[in-house]
Amino acid sequence: MIYRIRAHHGMCFSFFQGKGYSGEFTENMWKMKEKLSENPEVILLCGADDVCARCPNNLSGKCSSADKVENYDRQVLACCGLREGDKVRWDDFVRAVQAHILSPGKRPDICGGCQWDNLCR
Ligand code: SF4
Repeated sequence: MIYRIRAHHGMCFSFFQGKGYSGEFTENMWKMKEKLSENPEVILLCGADDVCARCPNNLSGKCSSADKVENYDRQVLACCGLREGDKVRWDDFVRAVQAHILSPGKRPDICGGCQWDNLCR
């Protein structure tokens, strides 16, 4: 099983504590978190993924804030030296996000305008 993960969700999972857009969304986030804890292979995207699949903001396969979040995705990939479509192990991706974005304090530069920003400080 290879999971579809949009790149900026590599940051979101580090801070997720059970809050989200709807009950179905948060339930899916917990399920995804458990699956990802087994270090599966993931394909990195700049579009709707297995998290967006249960999000009320997913309008027929496209995020209602598509331009904003795709920009987050592209910045995460660039910081980590990765490209859309790359297949990586989840733990390797998490390590790259930690090393290149979270540890150097770059996260607010990428997604500081997100409505959940205060949960990720
Ligand atoms: S807000 Fe947009 S990017 Fe975030 S999970 Fe929902 S559909 Fe996906």
